[in-house]
Amino acid sequence: MKHSYCFTRVLSLLFAFVLGLSVVSAKDFVLVIDAGHGGRDAGALGNKAKEKDINLGVALKLGRMVANNVPGVKVVYTRDKDVYLTLQERADKANRVEGDLFISIHTNSIDKKSPNRKTVAGASTWTLGLHRSKENLEVAKRENSVIYLENDFSTRYEGFDPNSTESYIIFEFMQYKHMEQSINFASDIQHEFVSVANRVDRGVRQAGFWVLAKTGMPAVLVELDFICNPTQERFLTSESGQTKMAQAIYNAFVKYKSDYDRKQNSRKGSAPAVTSSTPAPAPAPAPAEVEKPAPAKTQTGKAEQDDASGVTYYKVQFMALPRKLPANSKEFKGLSPVECYKEGSMYKYTYGKSTDRNGIQQQYKKVKSLFRDAFIIQFRDGKRVK
Ligand SMILES: [Zn+2]
Repeated sequence: MKHSYCFTRVLSLLFAFVLGLSVVSAKDFVLVIDAGHGGRDAGALGNKAKEKDINLGVALKLGRMVANNVPGVKVVYTRDKDVYLTLQERADKANRVEGDLFISIHTNSIDKKSPNRKTVAGASTWTLGLHRSKENLEVAKRENSVIYLENDFSTRYEGFDPNSTESYIIFEFMQYKHMEQSINFASDIQHEFVSVANRVDRGVRQAGFWVLAKTGMPAVLVELDFICNPTQERFLTSESGQTKMAQAIYNAFVKYKSDYDRKQNSRKGSAPAVTSSTPAPAPAPAPAEVEKPAPAKTQTGKAEQDDASGVTYYKVQFMALPRKLPANSKEFKGLSPVECYKEGSMYKYTYGKSTDRNGIQQQYKKVKSLFRDAFIIQFRDGKRVK
């Protein structure tokens, strides 16, 4: 009797221990910090400084600030010393460790022939997209040009040629899923670059950076300031200058992380109750890609309802862009009719509509085969349910 009590006690302790472990080891938030260039790839050059060293200095400072002050975050560097890595290797590493956020750190420069070379100044933060100006394209070309250091880059990079303007069209409709988070984070970094590091604000911009395109997570690339301007070069190579730049990115990260935690918690809190004993038809199994689980809802029996009728319905979202496309855009890959709603500064494109989850699953499959990042969203009273 006593033995069996002991045994049960040990078992329950063991169980509690394992349970405790699983709580403690719940996946950390993984922040991937990518110091641009390195090794034989020096990046842009100043009078004395090399871009690769500035990038690494700021990356390590940022990583230390996060590791020392933000619990529950695992910092992963693509490089923490002066070594050469290809763009693809950087993205591969970020994906392998299942990064939750990717920050690539670079230092800007302009052409040697430019008359503004010694006066141009300011920090900018970039997300993936198609460039809206030649100037933006030039930044992406310069940062992608490291690809030329590789033998056989044409096959490794799917025919992408960093110097060919036509090559950049592939970036326009990539990474729909993370665009909004990336742009919001980029805006916060810019805000901090100005207020904390006293930089000239060159804004949030879009261009086709290979390293951003191939990371499957929200991702930004910062251009700290201009290494070709001797004043900025001095700032960027100084200990205090690098600390300020790291501090600015750190502040934006802290905000990002707390928003992320709040969303995670509200997601947990809104899990649907099990309603197996209710007489209503059993709710369809929750599809894997529904953004937020919704409570079970009584069916009305009507296939279509007006948006403002109090009915819950589902749509498949497959694209979000900062601008509106025409209804017959070829970018919809033949999906028709496509609907669009606006949220914040983004236009979000949806296909299909159904009041029940089984119904939307069919349409989801169709869209998913064309847009692999598609997911199901829920509306009530004509409004997206968050
Ligand atoms: Zn660079």
